Amino acid sequence: MSTQELQFIGGVRRPGSGEPLSITAPATGEVIASGASASIADAEAAVAAARTAFPIWSGMTPGERSDIMHRWAQLLRERADELAAVESRNAGKPIRLATDFDVPGTIDNTAFFAGAARNLEGKASGEYSADHTSSIRREPLGVIGSISPWNYPLQMAAWKILPAVAAGNTIVLKPSELTPLTSLLFAEIATEAGVPAGVINVLTGVGPVAGQALVEHREVAMVSFTGSTVVGRQVAATAAGSVKRVHLELGGKAPFVVFDDADLEAAARGAVAGSLINVGQDCTAATRAYVQRPLFDEFVSRVAELMDQVTLGPVDDPETDMGPLISLAHRDKVIGMVERARDYGAKIVRGGRIPEHTARGGSYFEPTLITGVAQDSEIVQNEVFGPVLVVLPFDTDDEAIALANDTAYGLAASAWSTNVYRTQRAGREIQAGCVWINDHIPIISEMPHGGYKASGFGKDMSTYSFDEYTNVKHVMSDITGAAHKSWHDVIFTAE
Ligand code: NAD
Repeated sequence: MSTQELQFIGGVRRPGSGEPLSITAPATGEVIASGASASIADAEAAVAAARTAFPIWSGMTPGERSDIMHRWAQLLRERADELAAVESRNAGKPIRLATDFDVPGTIDNTAFFAGAARNLEGKASGEYSADHTSSIRREPLGVIGSISPWNYPLQMAAWKILPAVAAGNTIVLKPSELTPLTSLLFAEIATEAGVPAGVINVLTGVGPVAGQALVEHREVAMVSFTGSTVVGRQVAATAAGSVKRVHLELGGKAPFVVFDDADLEAAARGAVAGSLINVGQDCTAATRAYVQRPLFDEFVSRVAELMDQVTLGPVDDPETDMGPLISLAHRDKVIGMVERARDYGAKIVRGGRIPEHTARGGSYFEPTLITGVAQDSEIVQNEVFGPVLVVLPFDTDDEAIALANDTAYGLAASAWSTNVYRTQRAGREIQAGCVWINDHIPIISEMPHGGYKASGFGKDMSTYSFDEYTNVKHVMSDITGAAHKSWHDVIFTAE
């Protein structure tokens, strides 16, 4: 256990001045860092640092910002193993996942936004009225307040920070108080790469104190939030008080639709990987599989067989497939949902229990496969955020699309079929920010990520995210030099 300075403000690590905070390893329950959390005064200091840095950073050319961000990507590559080890320990991720998914994804995002910093787009300047030249300026907003969750701490920090700073903003990020360690490292490495002090600040603290202070702060121009729909709603309501721009990436309940002409083996493997990735603590995880009746039994038994082959174990063991849930409290929530499903008649085909052989203090839960529940049941409608896949049958294509759309959420979905008309229809009619065809989970820096319905609005990743982090200004210049302009005639005609 070590005592750490858990704040990064104005380019340096500092202690906070709030309540004591202990950070634990989900795999063992051990305390791995502790210190003081961020107080409202720390939030004030971080916003002040970001305000001071804004004219410096926004005054650089896109090329200058881009060069620094390319150096940042290079330093991340050089420290990839360290980042993976810290992420694995703090978030309870198997080291293979952290090494092969979280860290390379973050490096690629950083390299992408280093390039994208030079590519802010707008309409061509021109004479859209005969008497004027119009041009578009895309301007950074100022200080961004960002709030991120614990499930992919490093990637979420990257998704929040990179488009904001590439567009010339400065930022105060409040990561989840459970998993701040890689967000702090990410910001420190940015500073080493040459990002000026104060451009990126990290406040380690709890939502109702440090998070709320950012959302309420009059000098914060925008709040970018990733987390649950419940907290997202509160954040939007608070932000309305100061008419802040809000970007919300919220919960998900992704459907996984398997038509009767699908490649069954591919769909079964996709369902296991797509539902168990990050122990199902993934907002795009496959949670509700709808399988056309002729394939239903075979699909369920193949998924069960594959789930039996998933190895739970210590997160630093490269053989471990699946680690623990983020905390014992979160595991209790997952268990509660599975037990209630059992009570209302669900068949627990696999799992549903705490595995016996895992470390005491670790918040492990078995891969769980459930059938025999109704579409309107809690386990089908609400986010479990655990390694739980529910499978339901359907008969017609119309029914499949209707069931896929029948939750409050709309973040991601997939459709599995060898018939191009069916997959095209699914891509068109499923209401989600991303629809995968014959796959589920992959993401790429060039393409946007964001929700429909209660999954929120706005985009992370890709150049679409610049729409969130810039103001579009129209500058319209008279080119006639005339004192009396022709349009004045509608008001007055005096000589
Ligand atoms: P959460 O909503 O509990 O917390 C998210 C963040 O909000 C944390 O940093 C927390 O400290 C902060 N917070 C809590 N109360 C606050 C308040 N009153 N004011 C300001 N900030 C506050 O979510 P979580 O449990 O950390 O993460 C899991 C959730 O995140 C799931 O619902 C998941 O679907 C969602 N998620 C969504 C995406 C996406 O891209 N849509 C990505 C990852 C996770």
